[in-house]
This record gives sequence, C-alpha cells and structure tokens, in this order.
Amino acid sequence: LTDTPAPYCGRFAPSPTGPLHFGSLLAAFGSWLMARSAGGAWLVRIEDVDRFREVAGAAEAQLATLRAFGLQADGEVVRQSARDALYRAALERLLDEGHAFVCHCSRSDLAEAGGVHRRCVPGRRRRDPAIRLRVPDGSAIAFVDAVHGPQRQDVAAAVGDFVLRRADGCWAYQLAVVVDDAAQGITEVVRGADLLDSTPRQILLQRTLGLPTPGHAHLPLVLDTHGRKLSKSEAALPVDAADPLPALRRAWQALGQAPFADDSDRDRFLRQAVERFERHRIPRRPVMPAATHNMLS
Ligand code: GLU
Repeated sequence: LTDTPAPYCGRFAPSPTGPLHFGSLLAAFGSWLMARSAGGAWLVRIEDVDRFREVAGAAEAQLATLRAFGLQADGEVVRQSARDALYRAALERLLDEGHAFVCHCSRSDLAEAGGVHRRCVPGRRRRDPAIRLRVPDGSAIAFVDAVHGPQRQDVAAAVGDFVLRRADGCWAYQLAVVVDDAAQGITEVVRGADLLDSTPRQILLQRTLGLPTPGHAHLPLVLDTHGRKLSKSEAALPVDAADPLPALRRAWQALGQAPFADDSDRDRFLRQAVERFERHRIPRRPVMPAATHNMLS
C-alpha cells in the first residue's frame, strides 16, 4: 500500500500590525507562486491573536492589497481571533497529558538564563501565569528547508520551555500557527526566513500533538538599502496597491527568478510568472532590492 501524498496546500498568514510592506508581499507572492505552480491551493489566514499589536483596520487593508495584486485566496479567509476553541482544546490536551505547565516566572526571572526556561523559579505567584510547553532535554529537531537546506536545533538548549498561552491571556503564535496549519491541511509552509528558527519549536509541538509536519521553504529576508531588516526598519514602506506591477516585478526578482518581457498587464504577468517559476532559483541570502522607495513610484 502506498500513501497518496496530500495535494499541495499553501498559505499566507500575515499579522495585522500594519499595511503590507515589501517583505510581506514577498511572502505572499512567494507562497502563492509555490502553490499555484504546483497546481495547489493557497489560503490566507489573518494571525490576529496578539490584540495588543493589532492595528485597527490593518487586516482589511492587507486583504484589499492582496486583491489589488491579483493574489486570490481559495476559500474563506480565516481569522485566528475566531478560533479560540481550537487553541483551547489543544492546550487542554497538552495540560492533561503533562506536556504543558503553568508558569509564574517573569521575563526578568529568566534573564539570567538568557531567556531560556528550564525550570520555574520557586515561590513565584503572579496572578496571571503563562502556560509553557515542557521541552525535554535533548529535544533536537532536524528538518530540511526547501531553500536553506538541512537545519537542526536543540530546542531545549536554544529556547527551552516555550510559551503556549501568554500571561496576558493571548495565545502564543507557536501554538496558534501549529493548530491552524494542521486544521487547514497545510502541506507547505512558505514564509520569511525570520521564522526559520521558529520551525523546530513548531515541529516539536506537531509531534507532541500527533499532528503531521508540513514541508518548509523560508524565503529570503528583505533588507533595506542600509542592510536593516525591512519589516523592522522605519523604511518598511507599504506597497502601492494602485500600481501592483512594479512591486510584483521587484518581488519576482528578489525571489531570484529570471526576468521576462511583460506588457503591463497584471493578470498576464501573474500567469506567466506561474509558468516560469523555478523554486530552485530562490536565493538563501537576504535580498536588498535596489531603491525600495521606487516601489511607490
Ligand atoms: N503571522 C506571522 C507574521 O506575519 C507569520 C506566520 C507564519 O507564516 O507562520 O510574521
């Protein structure tokens, strides 16, 4: 008996913390290209579990920009803020099975250990505790990233027992993303390389919950002209939804793809891009698109 592999299902999962900038466009376009060139589905999920970082109206603006860029999601857009019950069920299972525990340690309690939690500081009783995953010693996770090649991390040593539900009551990204990727049947996680070092935590959580581990491809980081990460710098300019082609061409180039003659028609550009896309050309090194400000031209 041979297992038929699940059909390709990818996703783009922005956090609604501001307008789509070039770094997030790269993740959106890259994950869309990977899915469409494989004849697969592409889903969009709004990751709005962190209500303190959410910017009002940002999710709608991001979705409008995706539409303007012609990146059409299959199916309903899912919002993490409406999926409490799923996260709660996963957390309760982890608590029941002894894989998760209540933790009153504060950030400063962990500072001495470089922020890595291995055991709770005795006697701490904050009113609102966090819940962490118990990461056994020697939890080394290895995986092969489609862009960055073989990766390995000792999760216990590198990050320790990590947070599943924060002391402020928000679900942690790591828990929500793992639950949702499984619930939505995601087979390929394609996102920015800033999340490469979150992947071992997510694989460990998938194994603990008995969920399948999808494939991974981490797209190059985008730096501004000063070599700073675009998403964190003040130069993280929004892409221009009124004129998508310049930013799409620049994203195509940043993904290492061979230029082709196109004729200023968005949909023809996208169709050709799907046909010409070669995933082995995606670079590992960070990209610094020349004069990012031209994207607003
Ligand atoms: N919501 C995350 C972000 O915008 C991305 C999550 C993911 O792709 O796994 O950085």
